[in-house]
Amino acid sequence: MDIDTLRITFSVIAGVLVVLFYVGAYLPTRAPFSGWWTLALLLFLLSSAAYLANGTAAQAALNPLGNGLAVAGAEAAWYGARSLRTQPWRWEWLVPGPLLALLAGVLDDPGHDVWAGGLTFLVLITAAFGAITRELVLAAFHPDRPARTLSVSDVLIRALALASVILTLFYAGRALAFVAEGPDSELFRQTFGSVPTTVLLVVQLVTVSFSMSALSTQQQIDDLHRRAVFDQLTGLMRAQEFRDRAAVALPRLTRGGEVTILAMADLDHFKLVNDELGHAAGDDVLRAFGWSARTVLGQQALCGRLGGEEFALLFTSTSRDYAEGLLHTLVAEFQHTVQLADGRVPTVSIGMVEAGEAEPLTSVLERADKALYRAKSEGRSRVVRA
Ligand code: GH3
Ligand code: MG
Ligand code: MG
Repeated sequence: MDIDTLRITFSVIAGVLVVLFYVGAYLPTRAPFSGWWTLALLLFLLSSAAYLANGTAAQAALNPLGNGLAVAGAEAAWYGARSLRTQPWRWEWLVPGPLLALLAGVLDDPGHDVWAGGLTFLVLITAAFGAITRELVLAAFHPDRPARTLSVSDVLIRALALASVILTLFYAGRALAFVAEGPDSELFRQTFGSVPTTVLLVVQLVTVSFSMSALSTQQQIDDLHRRAVFDQLTGLMRAQEFRDRAAVALPRLTRGGEVTILAMADLDHFKLVNDELGHAAGDDVLRAFGWSARTVLGQQALCGRLGGEEFALLFTSTSRDYAEGLLHTLVAEFQHTVQLADGRVPTVSIGMVEAGEAEPLTSVLERADKALYRAKSEGRSRVVRA
């Protein structure tokens, strides 16, 4: 196959991808990794265009430039991968690699040899792809991801990691073949020469762009979903989400003949906190309650913020005494979570009831609310079991 035709094809595909990716993935999401990938595509495009000068008078200048731009493109892709793990970056870090590739070419014989500075170039590219692979593997297998839950984003990042492993191995092979046999050898031309490389790069560019674009969309969907389900302030479920899930869970729990506990919690004298210390202090207290509920109850209960400073807790599987014990722990734990400016400790009152078989959610909530009312009238900061 004619390498110039291939390079033109590559440049056209990269050019189309730059536009499609910028408009379709970067603009709507503004995700940093899609911005970096747009830049990487642009640099690969320019690099490929520079190589078109091979065999002409401009080769001496443009061939080393093509190497520098390709290394810069790989580094931009590396920054994109780093942004998935929100790793820091600096523009200055981008400079040495491309500069080194450029200088290695210029100081060699770029007017006559298209492989001027070739080894430095191959080593730099391999290193950049290796660094990308490392970031993607770390992002795909991050330790704070809950076990057994594999999101669509995780799958996409793993696919990108695989693509990156293939490229890294290919470029490592190129560097080795370059050293062992030289760029004019049969092995290098057939397996690692410009033609197979360009074909592989076209395939990679298209698959990576597709996966990246899917990833941008997926992360946006995940974010919207999280915002729709969880209350921003407390991290507990929003009222509607709680009601929907509880309405499904409740009949299933009671039908099994198991004890099903539902509790209502309401912060004590919360209006005073707001009035005397300000709305921001009130928000701190709400945040602290959300944190306490998530920490103490964990997977044991569905926790929802029904409104203002009122919460509902539906225990998914437990005994009556165990649930009551957890609620006492919650009351005690909550008092230690925030220190208010005037030295007061925030407290919470809780009413708990046992759901009857086939009892509708609204009725259970109503009875729990009555128990809560009793907790308030009996002096607050306590758990009342009806
Ligand atoms: P009680 O001990 O009887 O429950 O008294 P209380 O003051 O807690 O009860 P009340 O229902 O009168 O006060 C609830 C207050 O919660 C009033 C409202 O301004 C405040 N509030 C509701 N939502 C928020 C919020 O998101 N942030 C803050 N800071 N305050 C909120
Ligand atoms: Mg209250
Ligand atoms: Mg209230």
